Amino acid sequence: MKVKVISILEDNYMYLVIGEQSRMAIAVDPAVPHRLLDIIKREGLSLTAVLTTHHHWDHARGNETLVKEVPGLRVYGGDDRINALTDKVTNAQELKFNSINVRCLFTPCHTLGHMCYFVWEDDCTDAPAVFTGDTLFVAGCGRFFEGTAEQMYHNLTEVLGTLPQETKVFCGHEYTIKNLKFALKVEPENEKVKQMLTWARARDDDDKPTVPSTLIEEFEYNPFLRLSEESVQKFTGKTNPVDVLRVLRKEKDNFQKPKERMPPQAMLALQWDLLGASSCLPKT
Ligand SMILES: [Zn+2]
Repeated sequence: MKVKVISILEDNYMYLVIGEQSRMAIAVDPAVPHRLLDIIKREGLSLTAVLTTHHHWDHARGNETLVKEVPGLRVYGGDDRINALTDKVTNAQELKFNSINVRCLFTPCHTLGHMCYFVWEDDCTDAPAVFTGDTLFVAGCGRFFEGTAEQMYHNLTEVLGTLPQETKVFCGHEYTIKNLKFALKVEPENEKVKQMLTWARARDDDDKPTVPSTLIEEFEYNPFLRLSEESVQKFTGKTNPVDVLRVLRKEKDNFQKPKERMPPQAMLALQWDLLGASSCLPKT
């Protein structure tokens, strides 16, 4: 099973999961549809399904075009607000596309219909993959736009945290450097955080993605998965893991807020938010 990482918009990722034998492809959050279709054509793939993690425009806006351009294409997701949704999925539902298996993992909080997708291929020794959207990031977690710390705790520790440790983590945004800077503030003595930050900066210099990570690595440097560590508890002044998580996310919300004027795109997204429409600010 091959996963193609495609950088789009300001800092989003869309993905293509490709069956090695079948050349069948599944897209995850394909928000720049024509670019995706070019790749599909160039590589001789057939696009069978779209998995949407959540309804925010920078994840779901490509669905409508893809459904028009690809006859019979199915669009899966856990929220009625997702553009061009054809199949609403529920927690633990399993989908099969030829040799590729998908287990839907309901992870409400960033949005109330957020789904992560755990993917593996039959008769394949590659590690499985999890597409975490805006729930789990490399070294961070998503904002609690529509949910609570209790929900995010459940998502991170009981849903995602219990997947096989070698699972590769493909998240929705490239926020790794900023997340690691925050992780270093939380745990200034954590050597793994320092190593990762050096590595992530080198990747950034080469314009290369920091995805995928693995779950086992995330447990070493991601403060949002280290809620029982003494250092993380000390930073938050709390010991109950849900309280630790709540304080961590609040601190992250206020960490290095950009001082410069917001780009027009973000302003527009904010205006939509104020109007009660759905949006996702480019930076979380
Ligand atoms: Zn989002």
